[in-house]
Amino acid sequence: MKSAEIVYPTKYWQPLSDGRVRCTLCPRYCTLREGKRGACFVRRAHHGEIVLTTYGRSSGFCIDPIEKKPLNHFYPGSSVLSFGTAGCNLGCKFCQNWNISKSRKMESLGRQATPQQIATTANTHHCDSIAFTYNDPVIFLEYAVDTAMACKELTSIP
Ligand code: SF4
Repeated sequence: MKSAEIVYPTKYWQPLSDGRVRCTLCPRYCTLREGKRGACFVRRAHHGEIVLTTYGRSSGFCIDPIEKKPLNHFYPGSSVLSFGTAGCNLGCKFCQNWNISKSRKMESLGRQATPQQIATTANTHHCDSIAFTYNDPVIFLEYAVDTAMACKELTSIP
């Protein structure tokens, strides 16, 4: 059975005089008619606003050594929990994660994972960090920010 599409409100858009709505989240500035999706595929015009359709759905969960990431002396020797979502605003011809970043099957690809669940999973598996990877996290900004805050909350010393 097909699950209902996620409709998560966003703040980064403006209505246009011709009835379309412009997403202002990334430099593509997609101008969308009702029901249409942006270049990233995961933000859509819905009732005159731009909504995020992948909030709470992630894919590609993997625990990596931090040395796999393009970072220098960032918690050396530690583990990092990696994940991404469907969709991307970029169109790199050399993308190694095209099956995720260009997926149009968000319901079947993404697993449900709340920000708190991701934070708890990272903590349970002794990961000192998480990585938004496989696609450009700007397209799921609201989910990424809430996940970062959930991690911060879990690790904050009272
Ligand atoms: S985030 Fe998506 S919908 Fe918004 S401007 Fe960028 S590609 Fe277009």
